[in-house]
Amino acid sequence: MLNQLLETLSITKTKLIAVSKTRTVEQIMPLYEKGQRDFGENRVQELVPKFEAMPKDIRWHLIGHLQTNKVKQIAPFVHLIHSIDSFKLLKEVNKQAKNNNRSIDCLLQFKIAAEDTKYGFDLETAKIMLEDPSFSSMEYVNICGVMGMATFTDNQVQVRREFKTLKTIFHDLRADYFLPKDEFAEISMGMSGDYMIAAEEGSTMVRIGSLLFGPRVY
Ligand SMILES: *Cc1c(COP(=O)(O)O)cnc(C)c1O
Repeated sequence: MLNQLLETLSITKTKLIAVSKTRTVEQIMPLYEKGQRDFGENRVQELVPKFEAMPKDIRWHLIGHLQTNKVKQIAPFVHLIHSIDSFKLLKEVNKQAKNNNRSIDCLLQFKIAAEDTKYGFDLETAKIMLEDPSFSSMEYVNICGVMGMATFTDNQVQVRREFKTLKTIFHDLRADYFLPKDEFAEISMGMSGDYMIAAEEGSTMVRIGSLLFGPRVY
């Protein structure tokens, strides 16, 4: 499955983040041995023990909602936080990154789905943050792009429309708030059920779990 997926994604040069949440180290290692290095987790409690137990050249992505009081635990090692959904959270990431003498790459999560259970910015709130003087003074976070989750539905027209919305948000923000030299280049969208549509719509990273590991049992 991994090779097939990588072949499909190579057409659009989309990066694969293997979502390993709920999977054991034993389940994850075979993918590592096949060369996969980017893994995504949605809970800090699960990410930290896996980081400790697994090879140190893994790039760990935090893809789920992050509470400010948990940032400290992942700040020393996290590769990319996909789920920045408030100014308050970003400030805390900046603070903890500084404490660890590093800068942390982040994506701004946008709410693009019709469901109201999903976290994320709306465009207006994000702009207010990007225009705030204390935003430009944050030296330890590096905003690398945007992330979003489409509605969980079989309606492909709707899913495609939501991905297009995220792509438009990305281009608007890049034009208005970032310089070409900035690393604002990533659009993290697409999961097992909709990654093909996401890749067609310009995703640079897909986050895929069940397609690689089988259905999740909670
Ligand atoms: C679980 C999860 C995924 C992967 O879901 P699958 O349907 O198993 O591919 C992607 N993104 C986020 C934010 C997730 O929580």
